[in-house]
Amino acid sequence: MNKICFVTGNKNKLIEIQQLLTSYDIISLPDLNFYDDIPETEDTVEGNALLKSNFISKKFNINCFSDDTGLFIDALDGLPGVKSARFAGDKCNSEENINLVLKKLQSNSNRSASFRTVICLIINNSKHFFEGSISGKISEKKVGEGGFGYDPIFIPEGSKKTFSEMTVDEKNLISHRSIAVRKLVSYLNKYG
Ligand code: IMP
Repeated sequence: MNKICFVTGNKNKLIEIQQLLTSYDIISLPDLNFYDDIPETEDTVEGNALLKSNFISKKFNINCFSDDTGLFIDALDGLPGVKSARFAGDKCNSEENINLVLKKLQSNSNRSASFRTVICLIINNSKHFFEGSISGKISEKKVGEGGFGYDPIFIPEGSKKTFSEMTVDEKNLISHRSIAVRKLVSYLNKYG
């Protein structure tokens, strides 16, 4: 079976992909005994996905893919965007990020936002990008218990619920990441 590395240390993301891409032996960074942080220094999600894939494909001479995601809020000129993980500071957690978003949007009626994921695949030395996005709005306050990151304040278009109020399956049917992942899986199943 073809081996490919998903450039992540996140077990949940790995399991999600393994269920979708059964024709590959998918490993991740701990399988390579790699536990360092790869600094995400680019100013676009494409750039950061490429940076991570380049780093691992060169270091281990292996086919691999990386993902990078941002939440883009219209009224904040696209912030937090590529800085989504560290919007409230370098060592901040999701709650602090959410609180900062809600504070910056206080009494602002323009709540439009979108999530965007880019996956960069490097296979047999060629690069391919797959994108997924979803539009929606930022709620007035946190609602729901599930999910992670900004899920408690993101209401996808056409829904009355935040991502946090949805089951994993409900979110996976429509989410930015699942759209990008499905494009990757379809490419690898055809050409990989
Ligand atoms: P990453 O690129 O997957 O590390 O995500 C960057 C930032 O966006 C982190 O703060 C994540 O918590 C957040 N994020 C990524 N995907 C989602 C999502 O599906 N829902 C909510 N927040 C997310």
